[in-house]
Amino acid sequence: MKKEIFVGQVGIGGNHPVSLQSMTSTDTRDTNATLTQIRQLYTAGCQIIRVAVPAADALESFRRIVHQSPLPVIADIHFDANLALQSIRAGAHGIRINPGNIGSRSRLIEILGEAGARQIPIRIGVNFGSIEKKYRKPGISKTEAMTHSVMDWIKFFEDQDFFQIKISVKSSDVRETVTAYRQIDQSCDYPLHLGITEAGTLLSGTVKSAIGIGSLLLNGIGDTIRVSLTAHPVEEIRVGKHILRALGLQKGGIEIISCPTCSRTSVDLIPIVEKIERDIASLKPKENLTVAIMGCEVNGPGEAMDADIGLAFSK
Ligand code: SF4
Repeated sequence: MKKEIFVGQVGIGGNHPVSLQSMTSTDTRDTNATLTQIRQLYTAGCQIIRVAVPAADALESFRRIVHQSPLPVIADIHFDANLALQSIRAGAHGIRINPGNIGSRSRLIEILGEAGARQIPIRIGVNFGSIEKKYRKPGISKTEAMTHSVMDWIKFFEDQDFFQIKISVKSSDVRETVTAYRQIDQSCDYPLHLGITEAGTLLSGTVKSAIGIGSLLLNGIGDTIRVSLTAHPVEEIRVGKHILRALGLQKGGIEIISCPTCSRTSVDLIPIVEKIERDIASLKPKENLTVAIMGCEVNGPGEAMDADIGLAFSK
């Protein structure tokens, strides 16, 4: 079992269910737009939100966002240790950094001290572009190099008595990502944040994420997920929920089963199913519900037999 950390009230690792997160796509300096998007994501089922803090002039807005957000907020920081320190002081419930690009080790130690004092976790987010130079050599595969890089950072964090760690090892290549996560899963017991980075548009990103994230979760690997899409972040949550539901990892959702239609279909089934899906998207039943929507009376009732609610159309 993985170690347990908390982002706000949301437990990750331990016995906690796999949680669903996304990242805002608004300008963080625009407090209202960012909070509006966070509320949309909350309604859609998002449990943790990550917000980029790109520059010092976003910090004041970030502070307001953290205090008004219905979701725990993780600050996403690159390159600038000061931004990480200020985001933690602004109330971030967690931060995501790539330790290799955040500045000197002494600055990193400052960040660990500040996060440790406030008991907030840090995600060590390493990707293939940020593998330590010493591991870029013949005979070491890219995934091994990434695992070694992550393990080095874990050791560095632990040497500073910092253990509130979450790990991600993302690539835009599904096979590489799955291999890297399997290796890191074997190598440490810190909770894992799963995702396929820069996965693409709604269709291609959904396919890549379903295969990559889905195959890892199916093997018991992964504690929190973010589906990354070139689309509105609410779509990321919709896709993430579908992945979790398809694997039986989310309680209280509504699963729609619908037939592919054929020449027996006597209604225009596609818009009907899309409408029902939209209409029930915000319902949150306590138990799992299955709704089957079938296009004919020949196979429909049989196919819908195992569902909680079955609709079969006829002439
Ligand atoms: Fe065709 Fe009926 Fe099967 Fe739908 S349920 S694919 S309409 S046979």
